[in-house]
Amino acid sequence: MRSLVFTVALALSAPLAAQQNGAAPVVYKVSFPAPEHHIAAVEVTFPNVPAGTLQARMSRSSPGRYAVHEFAKNVYDVHAFDGTGKELALTRPSPYQWDVAGHDGTVRITYKIFGNLVDGTYLAIDTSHAHMNMPATLMWARQLDNRAARVTFTPPAGSNWRPATQLFATADPWTFTAPNLQYLLDSPTELSAFKLREFEVANPDGKTFTIRAAVHTESPDRDIDEYASGVEKIVRESMTIFGEYPVFDTGTYTFLADYLPGNGGDGMEHRNSTVVSGRGNVRSGLGTASHEFFHAWNVERIRPQGLEPFNYEEANLTDSLWVAEGFTQYYGSLIMGRAGLSDVKRTVAGMGSLANAVINGSGRQFRSAVEMSHMAPFTDAARAVDPTNFSSTFISYYTYGGAIALGLDLSLRDKTNGKVTLDDYMRTLWKTYGKPGGPQPGLVAKPYALTDLRDRLVDVSGDRAFAEDFYRRYMIGREVVDYARLLERAGVVLRKRNAGRAWAGDVRAAADGVNRIGNLQAPGTPAYEAGLEQNDVIADVNGKPVASIQQFNEAVASLKPGERLTVAIKRGAATTTAVITLREDPDLEAVPIEDTGGSPTAEQKAFRDAWLGSRQR
Ligand SMILES: [Zn+2]
Repeated sequence: MRSLVFTVALALSAPLAAQQNGAAPVVYKVSFPAPEHHIAAVEVTFPNVPAGTLQARMSRSSPGRYAVHEFAKNVYDVHAFDGTGKELALTRPSPYQWDVAGHDGTVRITYKIFGNLVDGTYLAIDTSHAHMNMPATLMWARQLDNRAARVTFTPPAGSNWRPATQLFATADPWTFTAPNLQYLLDSPTELSAFKLREFEVANPDGKTFTIRAAVHTESPDRDIDEYASGVEKIVRESMTIFGEYPVFDTGTYTFLADYLPGNGGDGMEHRNSTVVSGRGNVRSGLGTASHEFFHAWNVERIRPQGLEPFNYEEANLTDSLWVAEGFTQYYGSLIMGRAGLSDVKRTVAGMGSLANAVINGSGRQFRSAVEMSHMAPFTDAARAVDPTNFSSTFISYYTYGGAIALGLDLSLRDKTNGKVTLDDYMRTLWKTYGKPGGPQPGLVAKPYALTDLRDRLVDVSGDRAFAEDFYRRYMIGREVVDYARLLERAGVVLRKRNAGRAWAGDVRAAADGVNRIGNLQAPGTPAYEAGLEQNDVIADVNGKPVASIQQFNEAVASLKPGERLTVAIKRGAATTTAVITLREDPDLEAVPIEDTGGSPTAEQKAFRDAWLGSRQR
């Protein structure tokens, strides 16, 4: 780990960004008068406000998190003033909006906001830090999206906090700028006595960037060093896939790492930074770091239509989270393996679990990966009071997309004998959609459409028939590739985890009743087909009373696939009988052939090394 003095370039580029849009910037002052009460005081001044009503808003969504979150709920004590300091009346046309009329071209709004959850979405303030996700913290005004912003933070008196952020630095260490609203809201900021680790990376064209890890944790320094060393391996390995780093707008990329008891576990991608958080030792965060850094290319710059520009007023819908998140999930694991942070056994086990979840997941009967992406607003940290049957009808687009990435990578390697890989596909997406950039930091000029994914696969594979078939069957369709055959090329065996064992489905006990079924039964399983469902009480099996779901499962385990089980089910006062025809447990696992008593051929070994080995030199 090298520490570099590289902040001069940042300070120089900042005023430029602030002045880019002509009109005077929106000015924020954020202070922490009572951090022990988890409160921030925010003052925002909108200059040169057009005549008419100013519509001030709190965001309802946050980039990278797809459910609606009502950040307005924690805002209170709101006041508005004009340029002379006269207080103005506020009205509330919606739960998320404060209207200010009768101003003199300047509107200053002050408010307090409460926040006490450390993760990638919310605001957290306590005496150790202010951990700010900007949509959860800053009010903004409609129609002023193109204005630059200037933000000054005032830490609590006597604190030893320092700022870490992807916002543009200025000569004042506590004042930062953003060229527009999109960039401002995409710039989470941590103020704390974090430990800083830095290293420098270079692009083939000689341009250099500083990668920073600002680590707020109680983990010992040696663990922070180990984390930072792992991050460096991840960062360097990730670059080999695309052949270059994105041009980080401020010359830096920052891991805002927060690992403290009570934290939420999360990783949230942004253009030039990521928030990675958890409650354990910081060393446990490398897998998250690997996933998030891949997002610097995939989703931050290789951006699907539907997310660009990001709509802060409602949920954002895209067809392609299975690529934005799923392919990132695949590469997060692959890069851990290639960087030597995960061994072959663990890496292929992860790949096997992706394939298994999609091959056997009942959700695939109902929704494609595209349709799974459409579910994000209901599944990504979404809250609802009524129950859903997502456990039966939904497979995470992380998992589904990860399995498609695995299938596509292996299919390309298989058909071209390793000449063309998913790395080439990602590099083509990068050159076509990501690298061209946007008119300003924070904006992407060429987001991709779903069909672009097919067309670029035609280009990369050089085989239109293959690309169109793969797209139709496995990307927008609900078929799965022959994972077992493809993995076998790398000397990896995809096998039944519990071969020969009888299986009724996933029948678990309810927390409050030992012989009551606690979970929804998945369509296509023997238990579902026999009519068993959540909340059914299993009274007896083959005429013998059972006292628990565990006894039911033991009865299943004592039989063979193909055998039948008759169960008496109580639903309220009624009792019915169901006949379950048991099948072999379909659960799959992937293991290196060495673990099955075999050994890889030279060809398998070469295939595996090209796939899982480091690409650095
Ligand atoms: Zn992600």
